[in-house]
Amino acid sequence: MEVGKAKSAHVLLLPYPSQGHINPLLQFADRLASNCLCATIVAPIRNRSDFHKADPSALATTHLEFFSDGHDDGLPPDFTFETYEPNLRRTGSRAVGDLIDRLTVEGERPVCLVYDSFLTWALDVAHDHGILGVSFLTQSCAVCSIYDRYLRDLPVTPKEPNGYVAIPGMPLLGLRDIPSFIAQPESYGFFLEMLSGQFKNIDQADYVLVNSFDSLEAEVRKEIAESWSLMMIGPALPLVYLGSKNPRATKISGEQGMLTDCLQWLDGKPVGSVVYVSFGSMAVLSAEQMEEVSGALRWCKWPFLWVVRPPSANEKGGNSLPEGFIEATSEQGLVVPWCPQLDVLAHRAVGCFVTHCGWNSTLEGLTQGVPMVAIPQWSDQPTNSKLVSDVWKMGVRVEVDEKEVVRRGEVERCIREVMEGERGAELRRNARRWRDFAWEAVAEGGSSDKNIKQFVAKLSSSHL
Ligand code: UDP
Repeated sequence: MEVGKAKSAHVLLLPYPSQGHINPLLQFADRLASNCLCATIVAPIRNRSDFHKADPSALATTHLEFFSDGHDDGLPPDFTFETYEPNLRRTGSRAVGDLIDRLTVEGERPVCLVYDSFLTWALDVAHDHGILGVSFLTQSCAVCSIYDRYLRDLPVTPKEPNGYVAIPGMPLLGLRDIPSFIAQPESYGFFLEMLSGQFKNIDQADYVLVNSFDSLEAEVRKEIAESWSLMMIGPALPLVYLGSKNPRATKISGEQGMLTDCLQWLDGKPVGSVVYVSFGSMAVLSAEQMEEVSGALRWCKWPFLWVVRPPSANEKGGNSLPEGFIEATSEQGLVVPWCPQLDVLAHRAVGCFVTHCGWNSTLEGLTQGVPMVAIPQWSDQPTNSKLVSDVWKMGVRVEVDEKEVVRRGEVERCIREVMEGERGAELRRNARRWRDFAWEAVAEGGSSDKNIKQFVAKLSSSHL
C-alpha cells in the first residue's frame, strides 16, 4: 500500500444518533485515521455534545459534519423512536447524499459510507452515489445471529415458557436470555422490526464490520451467514485503553469539573475496593428499582461510584434516587450524572462493575478486566448478560422477582460474589484472561488489527 495515496482515501461514517452507537463508530473512525485514511462522521446537530462525551481526543483525527434532524435543541417530550425513524431517514439520506456530492466537487470524493446497521437505507444512498456501502454492527455476533435467524424464520425462542432454545455456537438460551424485543414482541413491535430489519439487505453490503473480536465469539462467528463479507474489528476502544505499545500522544481525559473529580475520588480509594454502577446512556429505572439498588449499595461496605443519568424531557420520573440518599451515603459513595467510563473502569480502585450490559459497556468492562454484576434492562442486554455469566464466566447475573424487580438482597449477594472469596478471585482471573485476549486482537498482527488493515487496503485500492 502506498501511504501517500492511501492517505487521501476518504471514508464517511454515519452512526445511529445515540451515545452507544456514536462511541464505537468514532473509535473506528479514529482507527481508520491512524491507518492513513481520512474519516468524516455525519450526525445530527443535537448529538454534537455526545462526541465530546465519547472521546474528545478522537476528534483530533476525525472530521465532523452535522445536519439538522429537526431537533437541534434536544428531543421533545413526545419523542418516540417510531415517529423519529422516517424523519431520520429523510434528513439523514439527504445530508449524506449532499455531502457526497459536495466532496466530489471539491475533489475529496469518498470511497465508501460506513453506516450503523440500524440505518439500512444508507446502503442505498451509498450505492446510488456509486460508492461502497459498509454495514457496521454495534452488537455482539451472538445477538446479530439471533436477529438474523428471527428474520429467516429459524427458531430463536424456547417452545415452552420454561424451556430452552438451541442456537448454533451459543449456550442453551431461555426466554430471559433472548433479546427483549424478541422475547416480548407485544411490547416492542417497532424495535423488533427495526432490529431484525438490519439484516434484510445486509447481503448487499460491500463489507460487514462487527464491534467484537474473533476469540471472544469464535463459535457463533463460524455460524453466521458465510455470504456476508464479515470482519470482526473490535473492540473499538481508544488504543490507549487497549495496552497498545504505541498509544497516541493525546491523553484521554474526562470532561471538566465534576467528571474529573470522580477520578480524583477514586485515587483516594484502595485497590479493587470500589463498586462502579452505571446503566448506560438510555436505561430508565423505576423509582422502586432505584430504591432497591440504593439499599444494596448502602448495605454493602464498599465505596461506590454511581452514575445516575438525569432523565430527559421524554423520560420524566425515571432514574430518581430515594430522598436523602446522597446525604446519607456521602462518606461511602459518590453519585455523578455522567463519568468518563473508560477512565473509571481502567482505574485500579475499581473492583466490580454493576452494569446493564449494553454491548459497549460489556466490551469496556471486559477489556479493562473488571468482573461484572449484570442487571440487564432490555434490548440485547439479557443476551450479553448470559454471555458474561455463563460463557466468559467473568460476572454474575441477578435474578428478578415476579414483578421483574431486582431486590436489594439479590444485588448485594451478587456484589459480594464478585468482591469476596474464592468465587470473586476466579471471576477476576477470568476477566483478566478476556482482557488479554482483547488486547491481543487489537495489537499489531492481532485478528482485529489484521482485519482493519485488510479493509483499509481494499478501500485504498478502490480509491486508485
Ligand atoms: N458512558 C460513559 N459515561 C457514563 C455512562 C456511559 O462514558 O457515565 C458510555 C459508556 O462508556 C459506553 C456508552 O456510554 O461507551 C454506553 O453504551 P452501552 O452500549 O453500554 O449502553 P447504552 O447506553 O447504549 O444502553
